[in-house]
Formats: sequence, C-alpha cells, structure tokens
Amino acid sequence: MNLKGATALVTGGSRGIGLAVAKTLGEAGAKVAITGRDKNQLVAASNAIGAHPIQADVTQEADVLRSYTELFRVFDHLDILVNNAGIGVIRPLVEMDRASVERVFATNVIGAMLMAREAAKHFIERKSGNIINIGSTAAVRGAASGTAYYGSKFALRGMTECWRAELRPFNVRVMLVNPSEVLTDFYATAGLPQNKQNPTKLRGEEVAQAVRSALEMDDRGFITELTLFATNPKD
Ligand code: NDP
Repeated sequence: MNLKGATALVTGGSRGIGLAVAKTLGEAGAKVAITGRDKNQLVAASNAIGAHPIQADVTQEADVLRSYTELFRVFDHLDILVNNAGIGVIRPLVEMDRASVERVFATNVIGAMLMAREAAKHFIERKSGNIINIGSTAAVRGAASGTAYYGSKFALRGMTECWRAELRPFNVRVMLVNPSEVLTDFYATAGLPQNKQNPTKLRGEEVAQAVRSALEMDDRGFITELTLFATNPKD
C-alpha cells in the first residue's frame, strides 16, 4: 500500500513501540491517531509527532466505541489499525493471582479484539484495510513465569490467524509482528529490570521500520507474521 495519505490508528501510541510506529507512519505520509490512558503523556506525544490524540482505555468497550466515533470525526475513513497497547506481568504459576491474569488478558487480548472488531466492520464495508497486531516472541514459545503475558500473546496470535481467515475475502491484511526484547518502559511497568541505555538491543524504531515495510508491500500480498531479533544482544 501507499502510506501517503493513508489513515492509521495506533493503540498505546503515547510511548515506546506504539509511539515509534505512529511517528514512522506519519513520516511516510500517513495521517495518524494514537490512543493511551494517561492524558498528559498522550497529548505530549501527539504534539511531538503531529498525531491526533484519543484518550481511551482499550479494556473499556465504551472507550473503544468512542475511539472510532472520534476517529471518524477527524478522518473520513481508516486504512490501518495497529493493535499495540499491551502490558505484562511475569511471575511463576504458583505465585500468580487471578487479578493479574485478568488484567493482562483484558488489555492484550480483549482490548485487541474490541479494537479489531470495530475496525473490521469498517474494513469489510470498504473491502480494504490492514490490521497489525503487535505480538512478541512470547507469542510463539513459552517460558518460565510466562503464564499471564505469554498466555495472552499466544491468544493474540490465535486471534490473528482467525481474523486473517475471516477477513482475507474482503482484501483485509492481518499481520502479526513479534519483537523480542525492546528498550521501552514495558519492563519497568512490568516490574522487571532493564538497562535502557543498551546499544545492542532493539528500539521501537526497528519495530516501526518492520511495520512500515510490511504495510508498504503491494496490496496483492502481505507478510503474515514477522519476527524481530536484536543481532547480538548483551545484558
Ligand atoms: P510501553 O509500556 O512503553 O507502552 C505501552 C503503551 O500502551 C503506552 O502508550 C500505554 O499508555 C499504552 N497502554 C497500556 N495499557 C493500555 C490500555 N489499557 N489502553 C490503551 N493504552 C494502553 O510498552 P511497549 O511499547 O514496550 O509495548 C508495546 C507493545 O509491544 C505491547 O503489546 C508489548 O507486549 C509489545 N512488546 C514489547 C516488547 C518489549 O520488550 N518492550 C517486546 C515484544 C512485544 P498508558 O499507560 O497511558 O495507557
């Protein structure tokens, strides 16, 4: 597709990977709207990259519906949904509590489903559209302490395959992008240590470049799933 003049909605676009993707799509000529819960961060990010801010929580159905009402007030149609908003809880099974699993699944799975459902209605009508789900290498292999986060990303990968099968007859391309560790606030928010000054690990920019190049392929084809590794990561 040609990104010039295209329209995109990036969930969790106020920082990290989502912000990098929104910035890159904007630089390629797309009109971009970003969502997030924290208003100050969202507005600061929008101002920095020239995107339209929509304060919304993907776990809240009313927020999801309002996101699209607001989006269609500003843009006359949508070409690209980037389902990026996500959180992690990494903890052994025997220490896992129900609320943490529900919180992670509410954002990473149900939130992505609600956002995709509303986009899909529009895409089916237009017989055109793109959904990029930001998975993780946690979507393709399990690991110790991964019950909540890895479980949610496996579910996102499963939903991606279902949506792909449902939406291909309407020319809608559904893609999964699986980054390995990226230097963002994600680890700190999940309560994990990470040195953010590490030049051997991936940045949001690399993920954004992958998203951009996958989208830019001619609409007759698409990359179903794409994994990104740091070349030689060192802790
Ligand atoms: P960050 O914590 O840096 O950013 C997360 C973004 O999502 C923020 O903009 C945050 O804003 C938003 N967000 C969180 N919860 C919600 C919600 N309920 N509704 C709307 N927005 C929300 O994380 P990353 O950029 O690292 O993560 C982005 C995605 O990439 C996630 O899906 C993550 O699983 C995935 N990923 C990350 C990797 C990494 O190592 N960092 C590796 C592989 C995948 P706010 O809090 O204001 O709502």
